[in-house]
Amino acid sequence: MQIQDNAVVSIHYTLTNDAGETIDSSAGAEPLVYLHGAANIIPGLEDALVNKSVGDKLTVRVAPEDGYGEHVPDLVQEVPSEMFQGVEEVQVGMEFHAESNTGQPIAVTVTKVEDGMVTIDANHPLAGVTLNFDVEVVDIREATSEELDHGHVHGAGGHHH
Ligand code: ZN
Repeated sequence: MQIQDNAVVSIHYTLTNDAGETIDSSAGAEPLVYLHGAANIIPGLEDALVNKSVGDKLTVRVAPEDGYGEHVPDLVQEVPSEMFQGVEEVQVGMEFHAESNTGQPIAVTVTKVEDGMVTIDANHPLAGVTLNFDVEVVDIREATSEELDHGHVHGAGGHHH
């Protein structure tokens, strides 16, 4: 069986940036299981997996536009540290949940703290980053009709509900 839309695919992967630093990896853990063709994973990786079979190994380089998007400067803003009530000390790397101008929940990351001002960045932490995936396909199966209805995988490695 080859990877096509509506296949449930298990992969082991290691993700590194261009500096060779490991960002994420399934090594030593359960494989990532996803429903192919349902936008469960980033487009650049999903496209590269089409027609692959169990045992195939591939290296995929994904540009930001096919990954987590470009880094948008408008999503970075400076706010006074008084905004962070109840937080003992705001530090670089902390993540907070906020609301966008349109009321959507967004995650923001603190990127700078200086002179009573805090810089927060609402871009995805991997926005603007070129992603290098080392991938091994470990399992492929047909999705159930229920999984297709839901647009995600059930059971091992998937949703339990
Ligand atoms: Zn479901």
